[in-house]
Amino acid sequence: MNTKIIACTILLATLAASTTRAQDKSKNVEIVIDGVAGFQDTPMQPDGKWHVHDPARPQPPVVTPGTFSTQATQPSDAIVLFDGKSLSNWRDKKTGGPAPWTIDNGAMVAAKGDIQTTNELGDMQLHVEFCEPEPGQHAGQDRGNSGVFLMGQYEIQVLDCYNNKTYADGATAGIYGQHPPLANACRPPGEWQTYDIIFNVPHFNDKGEVTTPGYVTVVYNGVVVQNHQAIRGATNWKSPGKYSPHGPTGPLSLQFHNHPVRFRNIWVRPVPVVNEP
Ligand code: MG
Repeated sequence: MNTKIIACTILLATLAASTTRAQDKSKNVEIVIDGVAGFQDTPMQPDGKWHVHDPARPQPPVVTPGTFSTQATQPSDAIVLFDGKSLSNWRDKKTGGPAPWTIDNGAMVAAKGDIQTTNELGDMQLHVEFCEPEPGQHAGQDRGNSGVFLMGQYEIQVLDCYNNKTYADGATAGIYGQHPPLANACRPPGEWQTYDIIFNVPHFNDKGEVTTPGYVTVVYNGVVVQNHQAIRGATNWKSPGKYSPHGPTGPLSLQFHNHPVRFRNIWVRPVPVVNEP
């Protein structure tokens, strides 16, 4: 009897310890490979090739962008989310109170916390412009970090990767922790840059299982960097991504990651997805 109790206690303690280890992401050891800081003790991506935030994953090739949609005038049917003057379409993501960002010279400047739209958005065409702080300071993920979170949970990374290496799945225009961008099309800090994003929401069945993943196409400064890429689930640090069932729309959110990244000229067009041959 006592032996059984002791064995049971040891088993429970072992399970509890392994659960704690699995949840304690701070225990991962950061390593540097060829100037890129990252991790190789994080979970593997589903394709089994790379760890999440693997510094050995190839860097996106650098492509110098041309001109594209900077200060693009919105189409007549677009919903303007930020016009350079007012944060009325945005709220504090955590509290639901007024957006804590500031407005400066026609741009909104990241501060204090994440913000999200009052609009609920689903399948869409989205235009966003952003400008990295100048001069670029610090390195890796700690340099001009923000993010465009589709439905508040699928992050298209915003980062200053101009002459700044980071793990590939966390680079500018990457689907964070999942899919690196196909190219590094960064402009220098201080210059305005554009994202033109086409997003298809994921679908779930009655059991909450994914029937169609979310898909995203990202044109970054006129360069296609995500090409109808399937999203593996909600993006997260040191996580390969996991879906939780949700409805067909959700707010768009922008991340505050301790850096005063600027945004302007944000508009969106809801667009249908027609999956017929
Ligand atoms: Mg980010």
